Amino acid sequence: MSILVLGGAGYVGSHTVDHLCDNDYDVVVADNLETGHKEAINNKAKFYQGDIRDKVFLNRVFQEENITDVIHFAAFSIVPESMKDPLKYFDNNVAGMISLLEVMRDFDVKRIIFSSTAATYGEPKQIPIKESDPTEPTNPYGESKLAMEKIMKWSDIAYGIKFVALRYFNVAGAKEDGSIGEDHGPETHLIPIILQVAAGQRDEITIFGDDYDTKDGTNVRDYVHVMDLASAHRLAMEYLIDGNNSKIFNLGSQNGFSNKEILEAAGKVTGMDIKSNIGDRRPGDPSTLIADSINARKILGWQPQNENIEKIIQDAWNFKSKHINGFSS
Ligand code: UDP
Repeated sequence: MSILVLGGAGYVGSHTVDHLCDNDYDVVVADNLETGHKEAINNKAKFYQGDIRDKVFLNRVFQEENITDVIHFAAFSIVPESMKDPLKYFDNNVAGMISLLEVMRDFDVKRIIFSSTAATYGEPKQIPIKESDPTEPTNPYGESKLAMEKIMKWSDIAYGIKFVALRYFNVAGAKEDGSIGEDHGPETHLIPIILQVAAGQRDEITIFGDDYDTKDGTNVRDYVHVMDLASAHRLAMEYLIDGNNSKIFNLGSQNGFSNKEILEAAGKVTGMDIKSNIGDRRPGDPSTLIADSINARKILGWQPQNENIEKIIQDAWNFKSKHINGFSS
């Protein structure tokens, strides 16, 4: 009995694989290594290199392994890139989900945990955002993840494949020992870019807009530690193993930090003077995203261990200090 983690070489995927291995689960990772890193995969996990849209490849994995549960991270996830090339996002993310569910149906695998996103909500109607709030994505990335949730909903009704969709807010941090962490090429996310400035690899960071209706005019986001997300995936899987019904959960800290506040906190953690400037708004960015994650806490028993923003940045900085140029270094 093994758990198949698709996209297990990526940022959240690799931390989840690590956590599952530590909890004595048998883990099989499939990843095309387009954005993931082989070095990030815990060496207790078995690894297959291939693409989720390749059904011959997926069939081989399901044939060779006794897969009982699937955790699905294999998707593109960069908002600005999705605005420029939406078809790339619908092709990889949505078509990938369809081929995965077809193979799960054919092999009678009945449980899937899915890495969804706060971007499914779009510009929120209320803060904090509840799972029952309207979903009107403001970018193709969020739209593709919402479509994937709906495809799972109908696959549950038709084929009995149960799912949990975890809508994460902003993921940050790294495993505490700095052995694995966030390494995207090119990097687009706020905290890793700020840390590149702190490490002297960039001159400054451009903050995208300071004319939003927020405490200091910059966007407000809700940051969750990547190891806390990892434990949420295990809990969601155990929730389905216990026979519960399909459900969508927000995963967030219920706290909001503005981009300027993150910059300040990173200055404190690193002890560096981090130069910044204010640029235009980034298309597709909602002003404020803060989660109501009561359901995950009550129903899944999720208890995030790292809710302090400086601790989250400290762990990201530990990884950065050990891997100055990412996994290649
Ligand atoms: N951001 C920024 N400068 C950057 C990268 C990001 O000001 O170089 C802002 C971005 O506009 C958003 C926040 O940081 O308000 C978080 O963006 P990120 O891309 O890290 O995550 P997202 O919210 O898109 O998932």
